[in-house]
Amino acid sequence: MTIRDVQPPELLSPWRTPERAALQKAARDFARDVVLPVADELDPQKAEMPRELIEQLAEQGWFGITVSADHGGLGLGVFEYCLVSEELARSWLSVGSILARGQGLGTQVLDDDRRAGLLRRSAAGDWIGSIALSEPTAGSDLAGVETQAVRDGDDWVLTGHKRWAGNALAADFVEVLARVREPEEGESRSAGLEPFLVVKERGTFPDGMSGTPIDKIGYHGFLTWDLQLDGLRVPDSDRLTGLYGDEGADADAGGFASVQRGLNIARVHTAARAVGVARAAVEDCTLYLQEREQFGHPISDFQALRFALADMAAEVAQARAFWQQVAHLLDEGEPAEQESAAVKLLATEMAVKVTNQAMQLHGGNGYTTERRVERYWRDARLTTIFEGTSEIQRRIISDRMLPRGRS
Ligand SMILES: Cc1cc2nc3c(=O)[nH]c(=O)nc-3n(C[C@H](O)[C@H](O)[C@H](O)COP(=O)(O)OP(=O)(O)OC[C@H]3O[C@@H](n4cnc5c(N)ncnc54)[C@H](O)[C@@H]3O)c2cc1C
Repeated sequence: MTIRDVQPPELLSPWRTPERAALQKAARDFARDVVLPVADELDPQKAEMPRELIEQLAEQGWFGITVSADHGGLGLGVFEYCLVSEELARSWLSVGSILARGQGLGTQVLDDDRRAGLLRRSAAGDWIGSIALSEPTAGSDLAGVETQAVRDGDDWVLTGHKRWAGNALAADFVEVLARVREPEEGESRSAGLEPFLVVKERGTFPDGMSGTPIDKIGYHGFLTWDLQLDGLRVPDSDRLTGLYGDEGADADAGGFASVQRGLNIARVHTAARAVGVARAAVEDCTLYLQEREQFGHPISDFQALRFALADMAAEVAQARAFWQQVAHLLDEGEPAEQESAAVKLLATEMAVKVTNQAMQLHGGNGYTTERRVERYWRDARLTTIFEGTSEIQRRIISDRMLPRGRS
């Protein structure tokens, strides 16, 4: 038996339309036939996904799912973006993630013509970025960003230390969050934080930026970079707008609607990716339980294991239904802040639990690099940490329910 013998879940009513079913099938076939073999070869080498794979994703139009058709995108919604991402993450988490580096990222420049051109490039997969918000001392608390931007004529000069910038070397641009001024009395700590667009050539760092890859335990396909900024010059025209607004980047403080919407989309997108990884674990277990024999039986005969698989499948289905609901709310223009935090929290915690159980069902073979389940387990583990940890999601949810404490 092979992965082709496992029947993946169908898109159900009320979300199913012929167009979405076709999109899901295209993404599912691509993930199985194109992404999975690449992941199997390159994940053990901790390598980056090849440019050829990115070009194949671009040919499908998936870097522009949410970019308007006027700008060469597919003009679809958060739902379709998550639908494709779940399928891609089912084969390799990082491929589900690279889509987020298109979708109009890094196009919020003030000049209309330039913005239109960048949107077209983004939709075409020819403007793929990296995001450098976090720093060694500023992770959950992004208002603590210390990178300084100092005005010098028509340029800004950036100096600081960024950590965790995924895809930075391979990117066409890096969005860097920096402090242009200190907050004034009575302002939020995030006042004075602004994003800058660092335009660069793929495969090199510009003058004033150097990088060292971080040796991660998973999430391969991307290299993740520690970046030193030392006198990096950025023209004033590349100071981005509409991303964090004047309020700065305090993700937890709420901020402007556009910021909040971007964060909410990132959360539901992470939930969909986590569902993809957990589904991979369920599908591999479905095969392994029938393949492995003990006590003269396939281990799929043992009710304890059958029920464990049933619990896993039920939890994945529950998380999928939740991301679909939240993506729909966002497409309807609902704020859905609490729901986005809740789905990120529940789906990612579910993925950790399900991939852990999948390893158990694989016995000793699960604890080897001969089976994919160890990759799912390593990748799922990240999903409760990045894009806002589980604790930060709980903080967002509880802040909507209770008066704010001092922490
Ligand atoms: C593989 C990987 C890829 C990443 N990619 C990127 C990227 O591309 N760009 C980017 O900018 N960043 C990226 N990040 C950074 C990521 O967003 C941060 O790691 C994450 O936000 C957590 O920050 P931290 O690691 O500094 O942990 P900390 O903020 O130091 O948290 C440590 C612990 O304290 C908890 N905690 C913190 N504050 C509170 C609180 N108020 N209440 C309760 N608990 C709290 C956290 O939940 C966590 O358990 C990446 C991280 C990883 C690991």
